[in-house]
Amino acid sequence: MTGRITRHNPARLYELVGTVPSAAPARVDAVVRAADAAQRTWARTDIAERVAALRAAVDAVEPELPQLAELLARESGKVLADCRGEIGFALTFLRWVADQAPRVLADTALDDAAGRLLLRRRPYGVVAAITPWNAPIILSFLKIAPALAAGNAVVVKPSPLAPLAIDRTVRLLSSALPDALLQVVHGEAEAGAALVGHPLVGKVAFTGGAATARVVAAAAATQTTPTVLELGGNDPVLLLDDADLSPEPMRRLVMASYATSGQVCMAAKRLYVPETRHDEFVAAYLQAADEVLCLGDPLADGVSMGPVVTAEAAARITGLVADAVARGGRALPVGRADPGTDLRAGHFVAPTLVTGVPEDAPLVAEEQFGPTVPVLTYRDADDLVARANTGELGLGASVWSADEERAFAVARRLDAGFVFVNTHNRTGMALRAPFGGVKRSGYGREYGDEGIAEYAQTCVVHAPAVFRAGGAGAAANAYPSS
Ligand code: NAD
Repeated sequence: MTGRITRHNPARLYELVGTVPSAAPARVDAVVRAADAAQRTWARTDIAERVAALRAAVDAVEPELPQLAELLARESGKVLADCRGEIGFALTFLRWVADQAPRVLADTALDDAAGRLLLRRRPYGVVAAITPWNAPIILSFLKIAPALAAGNAVVVKPSPLAPLAIDRTVRLLSSALPDALLQVVHGEAEAGAALVGHPLVGKVAFTGGAATARVVAAAAATQTTPTVLELGGNDPVLLLDDADLSPEPMRRLVMASYATSGQVCMAAKRLYVPETRHDEFVAAYLQAADEVLCLGDPLADGVSMGPVVTAEAAARITGLVADAVARGGRALPVGRADPGTDLRAGHFVAPTLVTGVPEDAPLVAEEQFGPTVPVLTYRDADDLVARANTGELGLGASVWSADEERAFAVARRLDAGFVFVNTHNRTGMALRAPFGGVKRSGYGREYGDEGIAEYAQTCVVHAPAVFRAGGAGAAANAYPSS
């Protein structure tokens, strides 16, 4: 398929935000070939030169941050502060990679009585970065920055649901980099498949949903191309019996679920509260939500939650709530609406907290990826941990307690790639903390030293001591003793 991808504002469906060209497979092929040629020169440069170019690339983006944030808000429906925060964090991350990559990617030399060993960190070649719509800038930067620092070229394929701000951002970054080293192609499955299956792609870095991930991993396997997969989660929140339910932590917990209308991989998606504190919790939660949660146009002042991304998403989420209610749950409205927004003009879904829902309801058992959250009760700590660990997904989780040691002890028992204590979602992240899932939430890591090392393969040069300086060594076919 060729032609153009058009994007309308999910908060005001009558507003066309922009268009981008959709890449046919032949165009994807040309882009990858150009990237491959550029990578061969780039890989020969010194890492100091590469990170200096990355810093210059950040400088090229930074002055446009306000315009990029507004564009992202209009194409995705995420509130403006959210978009500014995402882009600012992406630039901070890129600078952090520029600082850390020379250390993480340095050759390691070992020369001792056992011989001489050189560990080299070599690039894969062209990295295909396939990203979802919900945080297109940071999720692309998590791949672009370490991949370029390690000497790779990168071709980004963003989601057609939010292609505009990342398109502009990649072009700004590229203006400070060698030609064709960093490029963007647009499209859905056809363009994605052409990229993933391309024989000159050396690694595929994918963030998105589980169903797409399986298709991507299978296509990569046709060329034995390695992948890193960052997928969805169904993050449990474990409020221990001594959890602080005062307004400040409750406001944090509310936004951990409803930021970006709940469309965040590591959103707080299932709330477990002690049975004895259920009513107290619900009252405290709803009160905190009245203070911080305001549904409306993402560009309006004071709005903290916008629409969901598509009509399909809105229908899916309202269907999940209706199903939960049909199973005996009670859907409580959460937060308030901005009086200046026409909620009929976009894909707005009123946020809800659902109590009394059975644990096998899809709202609990699956990733809802929207502004509705189930509250579940427990009596016993072992039962709590077992239920939190139920299911195929293991991205994030959180434990809330007045006693940090107790929280850490419970955290150690959870099947999750990242456990937050007394917070959840982006407020608990750190540049130095590797992020990624266990179980079916994916493999490989972003952020931290591991997120940089993900884009280099360790290669070895070895001179065994026994064969040095004329040593005869062991018999030709013997294994070494150490
Ligand atoms: P998606 O899986 O629908 O799309 C992801 C990307 O894959 C898009 O760019 C899409 O165009 C592309 N794609 C689709 N078919 C393809 C194919 N055949 N070959 C190659 N590429 C193809 O995901 P989405 O709806 O945009 O994002 C939502 C999901 O992403 C949620 O499950 C969420 O939890 C997850 N997510 C995970 C993380 C994380 O870090 N773990 C971060 C954000 C989102």
